[in-house]
Amino acid sequence: MKNVQRVKPPSLRALGIDAVNAKDEAISDSGLLPRPVGPPRNDERKFMFEVQVRDSETEARTGITRTGHGIFHTPAFMPVGTQGSVKGLTPRSLEELGSEIILSNAYHLSVRPGIEIIREAGGLHKFMGWKGPILTDSGGYQVFSLSRLRKVTDEGVNFQSHFDGSDIFLSPERVIEIQEALGSDIAMVLDECPPYTQDKKRIQESLALTAQWAKRSKACRRREDQALFGIIQGGIFEELREESLERTVEIDFEGYALGGIFVGEPKEETFKILGRLVPRMPADRPRYLMGAGTPLELLECVAKGLDLFDCVNPTRYGRNGSAFTSKGLVVVRNGKYNRDFKPIDEACRCYTCRNFSRSYLRHLFNCEEMLGPQLVSSHNIYFFLELMKRIRKEIEAGTFSRFKKEFEKQFDPNHR
Ligand SMILES: [Zn+2]
Repeated sequence: MKNVQRVKPPSLRALGIDAVNAKDEAISDSGLLPRPVGPPRNDERKFMFEVQVRDSETEARTGITRTGHGIFHTPAFMPVGTQGSVKGLTPRSLEELGSEIILSNAYHLSVRPGIEIIREAGGLHKFMGWKGPILTDSGGYQVFSLSRLRKVTDEGVNFQSHFDGSDIFLSPERVIEIQEALGSDIAMVLDECPPYTQDKKRIQESLALTAQWAKRSKACRRREDQALFGIIQGGIFEELREESLERTVEIDFEGYALGGIFVGEPKEETFKILGRLVPRMPADRPRYLMGAGTPLELLECVAKGLDLFDCVNPTRYGRNGSAFTSKGLVVVRNGKYNRDFKPIDEACRCYTCRNFSRSYLRHLFNCEEMLGPQLVSSHNIYFFLELMKRIRKEIEAGTFSRFKKEFEKQFDPNHR
């Protein structure tokens, strides 16, 4: 314990939590259990974040976040369910794999099925059958990176729908309205996400627009049970990142995200900026790095002091038959696994690894059986969630740095 400054022992009660997860809450709601003693209902649904343990050698920290749909522990990895579904996995398996929070996408859901249908269904949680916390991304990143015919004005952004080509207009207000209708636990402001560029003036204009939109987002929000996170932009320019941080923190959000990271810029630049910027982010709010992807990136970002991550990699790789392990990727389609009756990862305790061999998984992919992508995706999600769980344990034990070094030594990015 000597390397750890223990801020406080884990104290759910300090957060006013007795029924700690969504399942308990659902039972309480049905009236089967007496209502837990504690603060009034309104308070229990309020968003709250508490740092629990700080690592003394790095900026890493553990924390606990309470939402109206239960709690989650940080550092946390959020499986991505863009269309209201984490590809190939039922909400029940997500829960069994240990997922405490998932991410979905406001823009995509507003196009299909449309927010009226989700509102009528009783909100996104009910519609998709997931009882735990949900963070919705505004969809700004998708709009700016994928869509055609964009016209950005102070008002908002005009573009063509990725689905049917129809004209869509998104403003900061509209994006909040969509997310409030979805009823996610954490909403994100609309931000302008420029692609990686050395053009400082362009980034400066973009962060000014993002700050202006952030102010409007905060001004128009109505739901008290939904947290709103601001987004810090600024590209690879440290002073612009700082300016963006200052202007966003001034507006005062429940959490802060870093956008425009890992969008093609050199990684050394990224980590240099994170090293200086993250410690200046408010320590008492969750810090979310949008779209961080590989196990090594996650470890590095945790060491820099970030709490929340999301990435499509586990399911995207899973669909293609690539499995993450502590030694690197295992591409089950590879011919060399034809007669390999070992599991994907002998150290892994997931359902896939306890029951199926590389040879069988390879066979499933060769025959295009849909069980193949499901089993490998489920292993991958488990791998990411277990990695975060392990990271939290190591931070608590004061051994995070040692674990990080060992992991980095073992993990070979070129392993196939
Ligand atoms: Zn496994």
